[in-house]
Amino acid sequence: MNSLIFLVVVCIIYYCINHYFPDKIEERYHYYFGGFVIVYCIILYFLTFESEFMFKIFKNVYETSNQPLYSFNASQSNADFFYQQNPNHNIKDNLAIQQGYRCQSCNNLMMKQDVNNYLLKYKTPLQHGGPNDISNLGLVCPTCFSFSQ
Ligand SMILES: [Zn+2]
Repeated sequence: MNSLIFLVVVCIIYYCINHYFPDKIEERYHYYFGGFVIVYCIILYFLTFESEFMFKIFKNVYETSNQPLYSFNASQSNADFFYQQNPNHNIKDNLAIQQGYRCQSCNNLMMKQDVNNYLLKYKTPLQHGGPNDISNLGLVCPTCFSFSQ
């Protein structure tokens, strides 16, 4: 409601300027002002009557900007579905068992309590056409990970 009152006040001010100083207002200012009013009304409409839609937009923007590039939850992976099916699944633990507690690239042994410090790495990088799912992931030690970057 406040923003509506603000719009009315701005319109009144514009009208007064137009009325008392007609020589200072060029014709194109009317178009600018009209555009401003229309855009303002559209934004106001979306914020008040389509708040759910706006919330979704801002939520998407927020989530996308906070998501690391090449994260495992990238939109085309099957990770969401997988985690729905296996809510307690810890991908690092499983990969560590699969690899016999050895680093994927240097084959050094890893300690069980260190598994969470190890990093996920694509076996075939995405930019070389590797699929974005679990079968293409390996667990590597931090040294190997930073060497391969
Ligand atoms: Zn390694």
